[in-house]
Amino acid sequence: MTAEFRIKPQEDTTTSTSSSELMCRNCKTRLSRIKRSELAKFFLFGLPLKKYICYKCSRKTYRWVSK
Ligand SMILES: [Zn+2]
Repeated sequence: MTAEFRIKPQEDTTTSTSSSELMCRNCKTRLSRIKRSELAKFFLFGLPLKKYICYKCSRKTYRWVSK
């Protein structure tokens, strides 16, 4: 299986949008959003769960995104 996340060089840290800036609880690095796998899509269908990764300690986590 190939990893299917893409890294975009985006530095929007100065935006005033209060949209959940998620931090890694381990190293306080900002988490990056990655695409869910097809399997996860199947299981989490309809749920506002988003997958994030911390590239520093390579931990993946799901976050509940409620609007
Ligand atoms: Zn981390």
